[in-house]
Amino acid sequence: VKFDVVIVGSGVGGYPAALYLADKGFKIAVVEEHLVGGECTNYGCVPTKAFYHFAESVKFIEKISGQVYYKWIDLVEWVKNIVRESREGLEYLLQAREVTLLRGKGILAGPGRVVVEASNGKSSVECNSVILALGTDPADIPIARFDGVGVISNREALYLQEKPSRVLIIGGGVVGVELANIYSSLGVDVTIVEILEHILPFTDRDIALALKTHLAQRGVRVLEKTSVIGVEKKGSFYHAKLSSGEVLEVEKIIVAVGRRPKTSGVGLENIGVKLDEKGYIIVGENMETNVKNIYAAGDVVGGPLLAHKAILESLVAARSIVKEDVFKVDYKLVPLTIFTGLEVASLGYTEKELNAVGVKYLKFRIPVYFLSAVKIKGYKNAFVKIIVDESRERVLGIHLVAPNASEVISAYLPLYLGKLGVKEASRIPYPHLTISESLRDIAEYILGEPIHTIIKK
Ligand SMILES: Cc1cc2nc3c(=O)[nH]c(=O)nc-3n(C[C@H](O)[C@H](O)[C@H](O)COP(=O)(O)OP(=O)(O)OC[C@H]3O[C@@H](n4cnc5c(N)ncnc54)[C@H](O)[C@@H]3O)c2cc1C
Repeated sequence: VKFDVVIVGSGVGGYPAALYLADKGFKIAVVEEHLVGGECTNYGCVPTKAFYHFAESVKFIEKISGQVYYKWIDLVEWVKNIVRESREGLEYLLQAREVTLLRGKGILAGPGRVVVEASNGKSSVECNSVILALGTDPADIPIARFDGVGVISNREALYLQEKPSRVLIIGGGVVGVELANIYSSLGVDVTIVEILEHILPFTDRDIALALKTHLAQRGVRVLEKTSVIGVEKKGSFYHAKLSSGEVLEVEKIIVAVGRRPKTSGVGLENIGVKLDEKGYIIVGENMETNVKNIYAAGDVVGGPLLAHKAILESLVAARSIVKEDVFKVDYKLVPLTIFTGLEVASLGYTEKELNAVGVKYLKFRIPVYFLSAVKIKGYKNAFVKIIVDESRERVLGIHLVAPNASEVISAYLPLYLGKLGVKEASRIPYPHLTISESLRDIAEYILGEPIHTIIKK
């Protein structure tokens, strides 16, 4: 069978291109070896955010009026249903656009030829172009190898049939802190172990510190500059020996130390697709690899492993194939988002990055607990920080550490893009009673005319 384009992988790096190209009249096949929607739909964004929504609600009600009664299994079933609905929605979209879904593992057999290995045999398809949207697998470490039961990744952690009593999370990156926040909010005893100086090491120190304080307030033990040096299974528990000498007895160990690109065993060497030193596929701005007509998009090309980045890359790859209205992904516009009650959303440069390259800047930081919208949600440590260049005209970085930050960051985007001046922002009636009002407050503060913030003289 001959297709115009074969897309290997149906996650957020793959399916948007399929839908776009099919709409343009191209004959498309998507090869998927597991579940349509990939990590985001099945084991990442969707189930974590469903759990998160539930956990925040429980935590909030408990704060106001005592214990909430619910059955863990009902929660897991509800999460499963949300995930199933999302997945089926994608399957429907693919079907409605007449995209052929080939179940099995896609392997590049040569230029314009993809072999599909399924449990019931092999088949081969021809095509003009290929998009590789292979994604990543969770990585484990020699001291804690996944066993699918007690030493697990996000894939199992979001579908546990029973609520664990004690959990150790190895790795204080985004996945680690999001899972720690969810579990601790639901009453699980959680310890995070981070080998580096602080959790969320890619963020500024004050963001990491605010999150550490927040997690501690939720009852999470955050052990930084600590590693796990031994794991032993003892009955239904695991004993984890830490570099500090402490031994933790836990039911589950969630390894959240990072991801590995799924680039081996898929025939990339058959046609010479180049990888970087970490195994990610190297692409140009149009998402084409070093091999003509072979494109790649999403987590498999590295950079921030985020769904909104993957979606755009997928569309860039599709447009490059159509050769129509091609744009470049502006990676500095990809917000980092961390969903932890007291959320983090960052755009642009951090102080750490600017210091590293010696760029001079000014920073403006205001606490935003005075906003009733923040007060109602109850996050005393919430703040907004804007980094501007010395002329105060160019915004270099925006960092929100506040409830709903992941939504509110979009309100800040025009400021970052230079499409909205600080003065203009100070005159916009952002809707009351929302956290987006913080934008007017910080704009007033930058202008030296704050209404709600006291400037100490
Ligand atoms: C716990 C967790 C929470 C997350 N939450 C968020 C969030 O809230 N917001 C956000 O922006 N991002 C989030 N992410 C990141 C997001 O999930 C990824 O950025 C996104 O899944 C990347 O999409 P992708 O299509 O590139 O890769 P994947 O989602 O990994 O999809 C790759 C697909 O390709 C298939 N595949 C791979 N190789 C082959 C092959 N050879 N043949 C056939 N099929 C193949 C795989 O089965 C898979 O379905 C989260 C990640 C995790 C782990």
